[in-house]
Amino acid sequence: MKIEELPDNPYLLLTPGPLSTSKTVKATMLRDWCTWDDDYNLNIVQEIRHKIEQLATKKAEDYSSVLMQGSGTFAVESVIGSAIPQDGKVLIISNGAYGNRIIRITQMLRIHYIPYTVAEIHIPNLNEIEQILVENESITHVAVVHCETTTGILNPIEQITKIAKRYNKITIVDAMSSFGGISMDVADWNIDFLISSANKCTQGVPGFGFIIARKLELEKCKHRARSHSLDLYDQWETMHNGGGKWRFTSPTHVVRAFMQALIELEEEGGILAREKRYAENQRTLVKGMRALGFETLLPDALQSTIITSFISPEQSEFNFMHFYELLKAEGFIIYPGKVAQSDTFRIGNIGEIYPADIERLIQSIGKIKFW
Ligand SMILES: *Cc1c(COP(=O)(O)O)cnc(C)c1O
Repeated sequence: MKIEELPDNPYLLLTPGPLSTSKTVKATMLRDWCTWDDDYNLNIVQEIRHKIEQLATKKAEDYSSVLMQGSGTFAVESVIGSAIPQDGKVLIISNGAYGNRIIRITQMLRIHYIPYTVAEIHIPNLNEIEQILVENESITHVAVVHCETTTGILNPIEQITKIAKRYNKITIVDAMSSFGGISMDVADWNIDFLISSANKCTQGVPGFGFIIARKLELEKCKHRARSHSLDLYDQWETMHNGGGKWRFTSPTHVVRAFMQALIELEEEGGILAREKRYAENQRTLVKGMRALGFETLLPDALQSTIITSFISPEQSEFNFMHFYELLKAEGFIIYPGKVAQSDTFRIGNIGEIYPADIERLIQSIGKIKFW
């Protein structure tokens, strides 16, 4: 079948992932792969690992990567459960649901932790973080989310990890919803473990997450894991020394699609070019929504270019599910809010989405505005 003959999606996903992917990414899944064969291990898995290490840093020789089956949370849990030793303690910085999820994982695994939580509409205070590190020498690790997808807020990772390093802490960053869509360098940003997944800004389909880690720290994870299937070191050891082999069945089609997604990221001009497109999408969205009378939850200075929270109109005629259904019929899927303190809904602009799509969305919202 030719690419043009593949069916179109009935609607665009304006969500934080899984998101709308290109037809060419989906088309690569139309064949099967043997997990034992070089066509898969050497030519796809190893190539992907090489590519994501290059995307993550100019100092790729100091870093290595691990692919981990499951959704993004599985990859987060594998890092938390494998990087922190029995006598370690992690400071978890949270201003949203994904930071809280790290706290939950840590509790479940009975790992010592100190939570530092701030309101969802605020970024963490750097002085307070430093104060906690000064007062708690037993802290060994610092974990934080980059783009907190709950609201779309962008946390000042670079400054947080700089403070963490001043106190010799190991840094863990959940960059799930930002890696591939916001330029960063894990070495320059002092990140020891960065976590992301296939179905966010790299524009692949869901099925695995990946970790880019400083080799020196990765090597220390041996025998530390609290779960067999989520043992980060063991997975890395097998993959790294085994020429791209996974310990257990891998999502072969998803992995092949991810390879294509990385090629398309290169064709687009790399992360900087993608970042520009997303920023343009987001500017178009906010400008159009404000013209229609909507307000954003966050001030522009704190807002990421990934996903935006809008305050639900106060009119009693506004009902999110009704609004959602009408927009779906227009060809757009938006996302409910996740903020505890206020009534919001979210619109994502990552994935195979262009400013012209956002213009059409704004027209549709203007047309169906019924309240
Ligand atoms: C998507 C996302 C995750 C992972 O969620 P899954 O549902 O497990 O894929 C983790 N952290 C952040 C910030 C995310 O946006």
